[in-house]
Amino acid sequence: MPVVVLLGAPGAGKGTQAPLLAKRLGVPVLASGDLLRTEVATGSELGREVQDMMRSGELVPDETIVRLFLHRLGRPDAAAGAILDGFPRTRGQAAALDAQLAESGRRVDRALLIDVPIEDLVGRFAGRVICAEGGHVYNLRSNPPRNPGMCDIDGSELVRRADDAEETVRARMVQQLGPLEDVVDHYRGLDNLATVDGTQSIEAVADDLFAALGAELPPAAGR
Ligand code: AMP
Repeated sequence: MPVVVLLGAPGAGKGTQAPLLAKRLGVPVLASGDLLRTEVATGSELGREVQDMMRSGELVPDETIVRLFLHRLGRPDAAAGAILDGFPRTRGQAAALDAQLAESGRRVDRALLIDVPIEDLVGRFAGRVICAEGGHVYNLRSNPPRNPGMCDIDGSELVRRADDAEETVRARMVQQLGPLEDVVDHYRGLDNLATVDGTQSIEAVADDLFAALGAELPPAAGR
């Protein structure tokens, strides 16, 4: 029943790596950004609340994302474990996650940090596109789709994320790197952190992440 937290700055490759790791482990990916984008797309009250914050690269309030994310984590498909992408992003969120898992005798089995220097990160956003249907991530320079403008996996249209404009990317970095350090420290303090070099090829990063899970993880379907 592995609960694995994937950590990294915006653009480090969490959205690319999470599905690869999830497939190997046989568990779903829960991506906080995707949950929020769905709320915005459906025009829910929560979506209207967070829309402007997301567009400007701010973190949404802990209370809002904790409620949304922990509700999703409580769904049956995550009972056998999950890869957490984009949550927790603050120390408060990490504490809320620990508390919810502890209620069912669970814990975060491993936190994996995809480490990429800041100079490399900003450049990555220029080429990033995602598919409109499933949020699958491509980079027009380093990881292009087989057919231009079309997702390899579900055939839907590839679009730029509304928050990938250059100013927003910079704001996102400034706002999010401090809290990320806090979360990294949280898991380091629990002796639960492994760091992987995120500047390698997609395949090499995927292999390192899987290897970093080690042998201690409890077995799950598909492993
Ligand atoms: P992402 O797709 O993970 O880059 O998230 C996109 C945006 O959603 C972020 O820039 C934040 O505005 C918001 N967001 C996603 N996850 C969280 C979180 N755990 N806490 C606060 N805000 C979040």
